[in-house]
Amino acid sequence: MNKQYEVGIIGGGIIGQSIAYHLAKEGVSVLVLESHKIGTGATSAAAGMLGANSELEKNDAFYQFAKESQRLYHSLQYELSERSQINIGLVDKGMYKIAMNDDEADSLKEAASYYKSVEWHEKEMVLEHESTLSTSIKGALYIKEDGHVSPLHVCAAFSKSASLLGATILENSPVHAIKKTSKNGYTLSTPRADFSVNKVVIANGVWSGHFFKQLGVNAGMKPVKGECLSVKSSEISLEKTIFYDHCYIVPKGDGRIVIGATMVEDDWSTAPTIGGIQSLIEKITPIMPSIASSQLHETWSGLRPQSHDGKPYIGQHPNGEHIYFATGHYRNGILLAPKTGEMVRDLILGRQQNEDYINTFSIVRPQLQAMR
Ligand SMILES: Cc1cc2nc3c(=O)[nH]c(=O)nc-3n(C[C@H](O)[C@H](O)[C@H](O)COP(=O)(O)OP(=O)(O)OC[C@H]3O[C@@H](n4cnc5c(N)ncnc54)[C@H](O)[C@@H]3O)c2cc1C
Repeated sequence: MNKQYEVGIIGGGIIGQSIAYHLAKEGVSVLVLESHKIGTGATSAAAGMLGANSELEKNDAFYQFAKESQRLYHSLQYELSERSQINIGLVDKGMYKIAMNDDEADSLKEAASYYKSVEWHEKEMVLEHESTLSTSIKGALYIKEDGHVSPLHVCAAFSKSASLLGATILENSPVHAIKKTSKNGYTLSTPRADFSVNKVVIANGVWSGHFFKQLGVNAGMKPVKGECLSVKSSEISLEKTIFYDHCYIVPKGDGRIVIGATMVEDDWSTAPTIGGIQSLIEKITPIMPSIASSQLHETWSGLRPQSHDGKPYIGQHPNGEHIYFATGHYRNGILLAPKTGEMVRDLILGRQQNEDYINTFSIVRPQLQAMR
C-alpha cells in the first residue's frame, strides 16, 4: 500500500521546489513528481535576473508581489545555504538599463523622476562604472535593487532543503493523469506507480496547460521560446547587469557572461537556432563591442510558460477542489519563486491571504471562464 501524502506537487522546476520547501518547513508531508531531472525545464535556461523594476512597469499588485519576492532572496540566501550547503549565487550589484538615442534617454529619465529606487546616470558616469560599454551610449537608468541569482542553484537548494525536512522528491516520474478517488483524495498516475495525495499542486510550467482541460479550467498557456548564449573573455570586466530592449548581459560569478534572450511565441522546439543566436549578437554588439572577440562558451534555449495576460496563475481551483495552480510565471519565474512558495503554502494551510494577490493571480480572473 502506497503512503498517503498530504500534498502532491507536479513539476520539479523552481516553482514546484519552492512550494515543496515552504510546505516541508511547516511539517506538511510533500511529494514532488518530476518528469525528468529536477530543474531541467525553463529553470535551467534562465539567466536568473531578479528584474522587479526592469521587467514590470506598473505600480500594481503584480509589481508589489514581485518586489516582496525579490526581497525574500536576501534572507533565503542564508537560510538555504545553512540548510543545504548550496550557495544560490545572489549578486546584488544592480542593473543598467541603457539608452542608445535621445528618445530612449528621455523616457528613462522620466522613469527616474517617478520611482525612488532608480536613478539616471549620464554617459560619463556609466562608463566610469562599466568601461567595456560602447562610448556611443547616451546614458543609463541605474536600478540598484535588480540583482541576479543562479537559478539551478536556487532550485537545487530548495529541493535539498525540502528533502532534508522530509519531502519525497522523485525524478523520472511524469504524471499522466490526476484522478479523484474520494471526497478528499486524488491519485497521481505515473508509469512507475500511482500515488495517493490529499491535495494537488499543478506546477509543471508550460506543460501545465495539458491538465487545464482535464481539470475543467479554460485558461491560456503557451510556450515562448527563449534562446541564450554565454561567452568568456578576459577583456570584459562587468559588474552590473546590462539591459537593452528586452536583451541582457549578465556577469555570472563563475566568469561566464550570459547574453539573452530571444522571444519566439508558440514554438515548442527545444534547440537554439543560428538565427536566434545571431539576432542576440547583433543587438548586443553595439552596446558592448568587445563581445565580438570573446570566446563562445555555450548556447541553449528554454520554454517560458506564458499565461493569457503574462501574469502567473496562483490559487485554488474555482470549484473549491483541493487542487492548486502555480504556473505561468513567463519571463519572471526565478524572481517570483520565493513569494509563490509562500502564497501556495498559506493557501494550503488556510492562512489569511492578500485579496489583491488572490484576484490578480486567480485562474478565473476576468476574460476567462471555467468550462463547467
Ligand atoms: C531563456 C530564458 C531566460 C529566462 N530568464 C529569466 C530571468 O532572468 N529571471 C526570471 O525570473 N525568469 C527567467 N526566465 C523564466 C523562468 O525560467 C520561468 O518562469 C521559470 O523557470 C518557471 O519555472 P517552473 O518551475 O514553473 O517551470 P519549469 O522550470 O519549466 O519546470 C516545470 C517542470 O515540470 C516538469 N514536468 C512537466 N510535465 C510534467 C508532468 N506531467 N509530470 C511531472 N513533471 C512534469 C518539467 O520536466 C519541468 O522540470 C527565463 C526563461 C527562459 C526560457
